[in-house]
Order: sequence, then C-alpha cells, then structure tokens
Amino acid sequence: MSLADWEPVIGLEVHAQLRTKSKAFCGCPVVFGAPPNTAVCPVCLGYPGTLPVLNREMVALALRVMTAMDCTIHERSIFARKNYFYPDLPKGYQISQYDRPLATGGGLEVSAQGRTRRVTLNRIHLEEDAGKSMHEFPWDDVPGGVSLVDLNRAGTPLVEIVTEPDIGSAEEAFDYLGKLRRLVRWVDASDGNMEEGSLRCDANVSVRRKGETRLGTKIEVKNLNSIAHVKKAIEHEFERQVEELEAGRPLRQETRLFDPGAGVTKPMRSKEEAMDYRYFQEPDLGDVVVPPDLLDEVRASMPELPAPRARRLESALGLPAADAETICSARPFADYYESAVAHHAENPKAIANWLLSDLLGRMTDADRLAGRVPLPAAHLAGLVRRIDDGTISGKIAKELLPELIASGKSPDALIDEKGMKQVSDEGPIRDAIAAIVNANPKQVETYRSGKTATFGWFVGQVMKATSGKANPAVVNRLLKEALEG
Ligand SMILES: [Zn+2]
Repeated sequence: MSLADWEPVIGLEVHAQLRTKSKAFCGCPVVFGAPPNTAVCPVCLGYPGTLPVLNREMVALALRVMTAMDCTIHERSIFARKNYFYPDLPKGYQISQYDRPLATGGGLEVSAQGRTRRVTLNRIHLEEDAGKSMHEFPWDDVPGGVSLVDLNRAGTPLVEIVTEPDIGSAEEAFDYLGKLRRLVRWVDASDGNMEEGSLRCDANVSVRRKGETRLGTKIEVKNLNSIAHVKKAIEHEFERQVEELEAGRPLRQETRLFDPGAGVTKPMRSKEEAMDYRYFQEPDLGDVVVPPDLLDEVRASMPELPAPRARRLESALGLPAADAETICSARPFADYYESAVAHHAENPKAIANWLLSDLLGRMTDADRLAGRVPLPAAHLAGLVRRIDDGTISGKIAKELLPELIASGKSPDALIDEKGMKQVSDEGPIRDAIAAIVNANPKQVETYRSGKTATFGWFVGQVMKATSGKANPAVVNRLLKEALEG
C-alpha cells in the first residue's frame, strides 16, 4: 500500500447548538443535565394540534455565525419537514431547512502543514435537535435491556454548517474545527462545547488517486465527540479505504461509527440508508424573512473577528504570529490582553510574554476561554511598567508574582511593602563591590589574569550582598570598572 499515491477528500457537517434561552419553536428552556423530561411541553412533545412558533433569537444568533463566515444570507428562506421515525423524535419529523436554506456560500481560512487555504461552505441552515435515547441509567429500578427517552433536548435550536468537499487532510479538518469552534464562541452564538454535545461533527470521507478529479465513494463517519477524534477517524478512514481499493475491493456508500477506544471505524446499521426523508415545506411555519435592517443591525453588533484581530496584534503591536494567535484563541482572553496593553502601551511584547508564559501556565483551558486570568489586567501592566522603569528586576518580578496573585494587591503596593525596590543608586552598589573586591583578592587576580569568565561569580556576590535588589545593568557597569579600572 502506498498512501503517498492517494489523497483524502473530506467534507464536514457540524451541528452547533445556538445559545438561546428557549427552544426553537416553543417556550421551554434550553437546559443541559436537567432531570429527564422536565423541560418539555406539548409543542416539543409533538402533541397533535399544537403549533410551532419561531424563536427570533435563534435566527439572530444564526445570522451572527453566517456573517462571521461571510455567507450569502437569503432574505427569504423556508423550513422543511424531514420525515423519519425514531424513538427520540416524537413528531415523526424534524423541522429543518432543505432546498432553501437561510445561508449559502462563505467559508473559513485554515492552515495546516505550512499551507493556508479557504474551506468553502455549501450552506448553513436552521434546524431543531431531537431528543436522546438512554440505554444506561443511574437508577436501580429500570429493568435490564430497557431503553428510555429523554426529550429535554427535543426542539433545541441548531445551525448545521456544511462544507464543500474541500478539506484535503486530517490536519486541515482539525484546524477547521478548532477555528469554527473559536468563531461560534467568539460571536456569542454557541458555547461550542463538544463534551456536552453543543458542537457535533460528522465527516464525509472519500479517497482518490492523486491527480484524479473525480470524487470517490463517500463514507460518512459519525460519533465524533472531540476534535481529536475527528482527526483520528479521518486518518484511519483514509488508510482503510486505500487498503480496500488497492486490494481490489470496491467501496460502497455507507455510514460508519468511530470507536475511539480502538481508533477504528465500524459499519453502522444506518437509519438513513436507502431512506427517503420525503422533505416538504413545513406548513405550520411561515417563511423566514430577514429584512435588510435586521441584517444591518447584526453586522453593526459584530465584534472584530479573531483572524483579523490576530493580524492587527501582529502588525500594530509587533507580536510574533504564534503569540497573536494564542492571544486570539478566545475573545475574553484577547480582551484581557488588550486591556493590559491599554494600561501600559509602551511594552506590548513584554505583556504578551508574561501573559503567555507565567500566567497562562497557571490557568485551565476553561479559564483561558473565559478570560479568567489570575491577575487583574491593570496589575500585569503595572508589574511590566515597574520592570521597564527599573524599579524592580525581571527576576524580582517573577518572585513577586505568586504573592501578587494571592494577595490581590497592586504591584506598587507590594513592592513598597516588601522593600523590593531595585537599587539603582550607585553609592550602595559601589560599597558592595568594594567590599567583595577587598575580601577576595585571589578571585580578582584570576579575573585580571584573563579568566574573565569569572565575572559571573562577582555579579552573583554583589546580588547576594544586595539581597537581589541591585539593578543588574548598574552592577555590570560598576563591576567592570572596579575589576578592570
Ligand atoms: Zn417545549
């Protein structure tokens, strides 16, 4: 088998849960982890005679995602019924959009293996989620072999974001998903939490020989619960399909499930196989109309997006690309950074270094996403300012950091209180140097005989004598004078 002769062709379908307070077509709250069937009503339970009413907030949040991805938003779109039977679907159909979705086109720039390119979208449409079938229970009184249905999730608003088969590697798919998750969070449309199922991904994978333009047989892979699983599943599927084809076994179109434990995909008895969804326009809902002034309102309320913001930090503040990218990994984190820079605009690079090494190292992923940095932005700026103006050394600043965090005191207050002010006055430093030179004639002789590498030892002695508070630049200069003069 020679994988190098082949390439994968990948399309991704992502379902993002929109963070509305209530469901798509009824007033039930959107909740995660509530006791089963406590957030339901006759509409989302599909009782006969009930009528859905479109949640405006659902449309407004979807428009934010579509605007962020530069889609063509259609002034008029329609809902359709996607008919199928499943225990978690009480109406017997899902309200979705089919041939006239709210948005088409648009895309997202991805980078992988040193190459940047745009993944184009086929469409973004609105739909409702189904309920959940449960097969395992925390309760003792459920007989074995029984499945129950929790309909709390039924009717939760989703957008489905569908790419063209534009993605050429597992790495690109990984980058696309990371950036898409960042974007839906960035514009406050979704919490993007894959563990809780607010972001779900299916991958369509086919392979073809390099140079071939025709698409191969498409295999759909489901059950991808993390971005890392998507990458692993695509890598596996690529190898599996090439192996099959090279062995002369043609592929058939099917849906497969990813088994994260084994790292492989397995055939699934698919409910969609050979199924006709019998789509037709939802008769209980009118057209979705997006008047131009609503669109203007959405556009006006959009934040600066992550990619242009990272480029601005690079060009305006001189940050390395990788640092700008990490700072722009979450909007609250980037806001924190820029707020610190606003307090001390003279040294944005040093502020970035402190944030990305000393502070980020003390934060969880959730802290970073929420911009919960253990030091107020003004205090980080104050600390860097006192290093820059020579009040304290960088080394002292690092020593102060744990107490700054624990006490909540400002850097100036703590520097005063602990008497940490760096000594830049030449007098006391000269005194310390004189004492050391007098007490160590042998070392001085060694240095003067040409072994200038011992200079560091002298610096160490002076720093020790001044409790680390001497300004290193002044120490270096005066020590050189004393030893060589
Ligand atoms: Zn309801």
